[in-house]
Amino acid sequence: MKKTGYSFAVALAATRPGNLFTTHTAVAAGFDRFPPALVEQYLGRYAQEELGLSLREFLALGRQNPDDAGEPFNMAYLAMRGSGAANGVSRLHGQVSRQLFAPLFPRWPVDEVPIGHVTNGVHMPTWDSAAADQIWTEASGKERWQGTSATLEADLRSVSDEKLWAMRNTSREALVEYARESIGRQMAVVAAEPEAIARTKARLDPGILTLGFARRFATYKRPNLLLHDPGRLLRILNHPERPAQLIISGKAHPADHAGQALIQEWMRFIRRTESTARVFFLADYDMLLAERMVQGVDVWINTPRRPWEACGTSGMKVLVNGGINISQLDGWWAEAYTPEVGWALGDMLEHGEDPAWDAAEAEVLYELLEQQVIPEFFSRNEDGIPTAWVARMRESMAGLTPRFSASRTVREYTEQHYLPAASAYRLRAADKGAAARKLVDWQTAAAPRWAALRFGARTVETKGHQHFISAEVFLKDASPDTIRVELYADGVKGSGAVKYEMTRTRQLADRAGGYAYRASVSAARPASDYTARIMAHCDGIATHLEAGWILWQK
Ligand SMILES: *Cc1c(COP(=O)(O)O)cnc(C)c1O
Repeated sequence: MKKTGYSFAVALAATRPGNLFTTHTAVAAGFDRFPPALVEQYLGRYAQEELGLSLREFLALGRQNPDDAGEPFNMAYLAMRGSGAANGVSRLHGQVSRQLFAPLFPRWPVDEVPIGHVTNGVHMPTWDSAAADQIWTEASGKERWQGTSATLEADLRSVSDEKLWAMRNTSREALVEYARESIGRQMAVVAAEPEAIARTKARLDPGILTLGFARRFATYKRPNLLLHDPGRLLRILNHPERPAQLIISGKAHPADHAGQALIQEWMRFIRRTESTARVFFLADYDMLLAERMVQGVDVWINTPRRPWEACGTSGMKVLVNGGINISQLDGWWAEAYTPEVGWALGDMLEHGEDPAWDAAEAEVLYELLEQQVIPEFFSRNEDGIPTAWVARMRESMAGLTPRFSASRTVREYTEQHYLPAASAYRLRAADKGAAARKLVDWQTAAAPRWAALRFGARTVETKGHQHFISAEVFLKDASPDTIRVELYADGVKGSGAVKYEMTRTRQLADRAGGYAYRASVSAARPASDYTARIMAHCDGIATHLEAGWILWQK
C-alpha cells in the first residue's frame, strides 16, 4: 500500500499468492484467538489509519462470520485469508486441517477445503551418529543427503548384517556411557552416596535391549502409557533371559501442571523400583540430549493420542541410526508404517480421551513388547546376530530415511509451493499490481451477480452405459465466462470424489441469461449420485481462497 497507494484490497490481492500458510496444530484449541475488544484496543487505529479498514472489516479477516460481534479474532483464519495456499505437516494432518478449517468454506465438501500437506523431515546429518555416518558414507558417499538421493535405498540394502549390527552395538554402548555420566552428575548434585551412584551406573547395561522415549510431557502425548500397569512393565524389563532397559527424558511447560504430574509419576516409579528396574530418567531434555538418545536406542516409543500429533519428528531421528519405531498410527507414522519397518499401535481411528481405549492401547503395547519386540531382539544366529531384527533395521533405514529426510521436505516445499508462489506473486504484482487491481474489480463486480445465479430443471437420459445429465442455469447479468459448471459425486469405497465439467450446449431462447449445460457419465452409478454445481471461474486465481462461492443444484 505504501509503495503504490492502492487500497488494502488491491495490496492484499497483489501479495497473497506469494504467501504459503503452513499450519502446525491438530486441534482448534491450538489456534491463537483474541477477544475483539483487545484487537480494537491495540490494532483499531492501525486498521483505520494505516490500512483504511473499519474495525468490522479488520476483524472480519480473523472471523468465520464477520457479522458475529462476539466472535474472537482467529490468527489461523487471518493467515488463511492472507495466503495463496495452505499446507499441513503430514498426510493425516492435512486431512485433519481440512476439517478444522471447513467452517471457512461453507458448502464445499471437506475434501475440497484447500489445504494440502508437506510431511516434515529431519536434517539427517544433524542426527546421525559417527558409526551410522560411516555406514552411510561407505554405502552412498559423503554428499548423500544432497540431490534427489535416488540410490540411497538400494545402497543401504547392500550393507551386511554384520556391519549393521556392529554399528547398533557401538551406538548403544555410547548412549549407555553418556547416560552413566549424566546420571552420575544428576545424583551428585543431590549429594547421593558414591556407592549408590556406582550401583546405579552399573545397572545401565550396554548389551541389552534399550528402549527410549523423550518428549515434551503433554497429556496428549500420553507419556505414561507404559506405566498403565507398573507390575507388568517391571516384569517385561526384568525378564531373566531377555532383559530390557528404558531411558526416558522430557520436560513439561511451566504452566502445564498436568504434564508436570506425569513426570512426577515416572520419578516416583523410578524411586520405588530403584534396586530392581532399569528405568533411567535423564534430566534437562534438549537437542543435545535428544541427539544422544536417538543415536543410541534400539527402539523409539511414541504413544500420542490420535490425531493430536500433527507430525512428530523425534521418531524420524532414529531412522538414520538404525533405531526402530513403535508408535501410534498418528502424524508421520500413519504414512510411514508398514509391518517390515517397525511396530504400530492404534487402529487408524480417533478415540478421544476414553480411558478404556487408553487401557486397551497400553495392553497392546505390552503385548507387542513381550511377544514381538523383545523376542526378535534376542533371537540370535550362531554369530550372535539377531537376523530378523537386523532385517527390520535395514528396511527402516533404507526405506524410510530418504523419505523422512529434510532434503525431501525442502524439495517438496520448493517445487510444490515456493516456486509457484513466487511466479504467481510476480504475475500479480507486475506493472504496479495491474493484475491485482483487475482481480479486485472482477471480484467486486461478480459478487452480486453470483448471488443472483439460479439452477432450473435437470434432465437425465440414459442410453446404453451412459447417463446424459443436463441442467438449466440462469445467469442473469453474469457472463458464462465467469463461471464453471460441474457434475459432482461423492467417492465410493474410500476413493475420491468424481467431478466432470459440464459444457454449455445452448442458450435458452425464451429467458434472458438462461443456458443448458450437459455432461455424460458412466451409468455404473445411479444418476442421482451426481449433483450439478456452479463455481466461480477466473484465470490465475486460487478459486477456493479468492472466490470461494459455490451453488449446488437442489
Ligand atoms: C525432535 C525434538 C522434539 C520434537 O519431538 P516430537 O516427539 O516429534 O514432538 C522436541 N524436542 C527436542 C529437543 C527434539 O530434539
